[in-house]
Amino acid sequence: MIVLKTSNELRKMQKACRISAQALQVAGQAVKPGITTHELDRIIERFIRSQGAVPSFKGYGGFPASACISVNDVVIHGIPDRRVIKEGDIVSIDVGAMIDGFHGDNAATFAAGTVSPEAQKLMDVTRECLYKGIEAAQPGNRIGDISFAVQTHAEENGFAVVRQFVGHGVGNKLHEDPEVPNFGTPHRGPRLMPGMTIAIEPMINGKGAGVRVLSDGWTTVTQSGSLSAHFEHTVAITDNGPVIMTVPEDCK
Ligand code: MG
Repeated sequence: MIVLKTSNELRKMQKACRISAQALQVAGQAVKPGITTHELDRIIERFIRSQGAVPSFKGYGGFPASACISVNDVVIHGIPDRRVIKEGDIVSIDVGAMIDGFHGDNAATFAAGTVSPEAQKLMDVTRECLYKGIEAAQPGNRIGDISFAVQTHAEENGFAVVRQFVGHGVGNKLHEDPEVPNFGTPHRGPRLMPGMTIAIEPMINGKGAGVRVLSDGWTTVTQSGSLSAHFEHTVAITDNGPVIMTVPEDCK
């Protein structure tokens, strides 16, 4: 069931989204060679709690940390640990915060120092895929229009779209209906209506769409061993078009 939010609910949710975006910003600034993924997670959790919010991911389905931190060939759901970030790594951080009963959810891939041109291109194209998807999130369009926009841009650039994991509705729950795949057919799927809030989150691999989940039950890596990037925003569908909610400042 797709839950439409009232404008009052959207205002409340804006706060969770702002804190999520600020947490991602703080984390991104801390990404550098020498830091461990556990230290990044501590920084993120401390920030979220300092705002009176709760890390959405901590304990979700048993996830042991506040953020998913996925390095290089790790696509998503990397568990923060003693891994030390190295020069040239790409670091995907996915973080959500909950306050006043609502969640925000966002992700970005950050470069540690100077990365290879291929890594830079993958990051750039994945970010562009996110914005192409957001642009397609117009009221009256369908989920498939978002999916198609993301897939087309990724594949035109020679990259592959992960099939096994998808975006989602977000609100009182971290994961709500509908699913928002990063691949699909235009004019198909649920219609986008004002009041819908969805997390659009392209996960794009350098080579091959295949992924596998490691024995910890979370860490998801590319089957080919290629790099992977991930960008995500929580977006509200409004009468005036899509509004990105996960921005570090309050929306007017
Ligand atoms: Mg998400």
